[in-house]
Amino acid sequence: MPVFRRPLIALGCRPRNAGEVAGWRETDAAVMQATYIDSLWRAGGTEAMLFPRALGEHEAEAYLSRVDGLILVGGGDVEPFRYGQEPHPKAYGLSRVSDDFELVLARAAFRMGIPFFAICRGVQILNVALGGTLHQHLPDVSHTVSHGATPEGDAGTHAVDVEPKSLLSRSVGRLSRLDACFSAHHQAIDRLAPGLVVSGRTADGVVEAVERDRPADGWLLGVQWHPERTTHVDHQQQSLFDALVTAAGEHMLAQR
Ligand code: MN
Repeated sequence: MPVFRRPLIALGCRPRNAGEVAGWRETDAAVMQATYIDSLWRAGGTEAMLFPRALGEHEAEAYLSRVDGLILVGGGDVEPFRYGQEPHPKAYGLSRVSDDFELVLARAAFRMGIPFFAICRGVQILNVALGGTLHQHLPDVSHTVSHGATPEGDAGTHAVDVEPKSLLSRSVGRLSRLDACFSAHHQAIDRLAPGLVVSGRTADGVVEAVERDRPADGWLLGVQWHPERTTHVDHQQQSLFDALVTAAGEHMLAQR
């Protein structure tokens, strides 16, 4: 008898050193915010938490061959040497293990064409993994929209203009503009990687959403904002997770 199951979505956890998690002084750990999991469950999916570690290309493919989709979540900056630059003085949260883990996962997911939702740091990882570069500190280049440029404090919301006929547009009921995108980033895509196209920008021209230039190769959406922070009150933001899980369900059935 067939067993119904929810699409299984892998999420890459954030590494924490011994002592960074209260009560765990003697062991390294990894963490994940509940907002991602809540948004995924609301969409009808369930989670597979991946522990961050240096990963080979074949291991990454083996991981991803056992799930129906992938989410890469927000976090610190990508190490600038990964795209050939020296660190900006405002760089924060650099993690060798996180980059080693997620860059390989992102390349494998792109190659395999599994449904892949890249959020905030995730979209930066995606772009760097495929050969693109980042603006290291947005206040140096953008002055008209506040993107919430520090990790601690001044997060807020801004609008994102949506490219017509894009995957992003279809995922949000063909709206031309998402009014309230929760934003907390001080970096963004600079030179876009081959294989990607831009499908959302803020009024200052900052890249806020990307997808595949060949949509038939797999469901891929990268967003620079944090939909998971407002999915509980904003069905447009929730619809991005819904679209991922729908694609993951189709991928699951196609693999049988
Ligand atoms: Mn932004």
